[in-house]
Amino acid sequence: MKPEALARLREIASDPYGRLANLRKKKRIIGSTLADVPEELIHAAGLHPFLILGTNEPISHSAALLPDNSCSLARSNLELVVGYQADFFDGFILSQVCDTTQHLCDIWKRKYSDRYFENFLAPRQVARPSARDWYAQECRRLRAELGKYTGREITDDDLWRSFRLYNENRSLLRRLYDIKREAPAMMTNRKFFDVVKATFFMDKEEHSRLLQEVLQWAEAEKGRFEGQDGYFQVITAGIVVEPPNIYDMIDEVKGNIVGDNLCTASRYIYHDVEVSGDPAEALADRHIGKPNFSPINDNVERIYTNLLDLYREKGAEAMFYIHIKYCESQDYDLPDIKVKMREEGIPFLELETEYQTTHLAQMKTRLQAFCESVIGRA
Ligand code: SF4
Repeated sequence: MKPEALARLREIASDPYGRLANLRKKKRIIGSTLADVPEELIHAAGLHPFLILGTNEPISHSAALLPDNSCSLARSNLELVVGYQADFFDGFILSQVCDTTQHLCDIWKRKYSDRYFENFLAPRQVARPSARDWYAQECRRLRAELGKYTGREITDDDLWRSFRLYNENRSLLRRLYDIKREAPAMMTNRKFFDVVKATFFMDKEEHSRLLQEVLQWAEAEKGRFEGQDGYFQVITAGIVVEPPNIYDMIDEVKGNIVGDNLCTASRYIYHDVEVSGDPAEALADRHIGKPNFSPINDNVERIYTNLLDLYREKGAEAMFYIHIKYCESQDYDLPDIKVKMREEGIPFLELETEYQTTHLAQMKTRLQAFCESVIGRA
């Protein structure tokens, strides 16, 4: 029997605002946006870091604030806050990673001048010698500003505690990913990525406690489900996978996601912070050591060489690229990625999507046709 913990985590992933309404009674909630805001700093300040991951509800409020050809991640993040959950947040830390997020930050700051607000400026060209120092300085600045906001200095001990807590949570997620890879019949893609999604919203100790229960069950049961019979192994690339029904569609064609470079999965769970030295520099080392994604890179070729390496390392048979419509950064990278994958003979499918995509039948047909005609799956 599946543990109740799994159901609880999945409920929170699909409705964090309803299910976590009590959070506001315990701590002030700071919403942040993708990517690479060091949530450990927010936690160490005694605040609750909460990743704003948009809404799949229709866009109505943010249409007046952002142009229609902005990506749906930015539009639905703004929509979520302006239209549905304005009262949930006490403050915001927004990351600037592209032109869209730069404008979004300006609009957001004006709109919520009554709340705590920070832009977090992570360097985008991480190969520059100044990038590591820059990121460390941003962390020091944020640490000081959060201290002023709460009226309490954040000590190194506070930070080490938060680093350990977050590292522990990531390591539990990595263990579950290993099991899901080996036993896809036990844990679907949708279930696993829902469990990961829940961590962006929840109290980390609570998430880890529930995750331990899921792991106990999964480790005891996996022997009955191990094997890839009927499944093919696939790499999923991009930034986010939305709407999450895309995972269900990959489950339906029996694609087992064995690797990814998503900001909301591997780019998050595979990168711990060293619990030693200078905390700001430890955070900076993590930032520059992460794999590239479209807006943040050290060498433009790594956007496809990293994917090729991942594909080969995992023994995958196909690659699905989730393309957020109007994402300017992905728009620049995608032509090169497609050419490279074609040259290397890798079965590659681009799935263009928006947060508000409701008609998934066409995407499903493309996915099924790709599986039948390109990788020979009936
Ligand atoms: S990087 Fe792409 S998806 Fe992310 S905010 Fe910018 S345009 Fe949108």
